[in-house]
Amino acid sequence: MHVSVSLSNDMPLAILGYWPDSFVSVYFIKMSTQPVGPEPVNVVCPSCHQQVVTRTEPKATTKTHLIALIMCLTCLWPCACCLYCTQCARNTEHFCPSCNAFVGTYER
Ligand SMILES: [Zn+2]
Repeated sequence: MHVSVSLSNDMPLAILGYWPDSFVSVYFIKMSTQPVGPEPVNVVCPSCHQQVVTRTEPKATTKTHLIALIMCLTCLWPCACCLYCTQCARNTEHFCPSCNAFVGTYER
């Protein structure tokens, strides 16, 4: 259970100009990294400083998009659909339920 950001993996995608939202995530993770897991966690919100249990949202990763794209190109698109349907291919983003501030991302 850890939060990690791998810039080197995202760089080729960055050069192509795809998925700029990953940059926003990277920026916020560096600003306030909380040790979060796949389940809602009890943290002090970095924004409103309240003790809260985070609201979690599954989020497809850039790797998910990339693997899905490769699968589509190689006529394995049914696998790409499965990829998006399975929780295991997604990160979990944590938000403050009180002020909706981004708390952290759990990367699988
Ligand atoms: Zn908050």
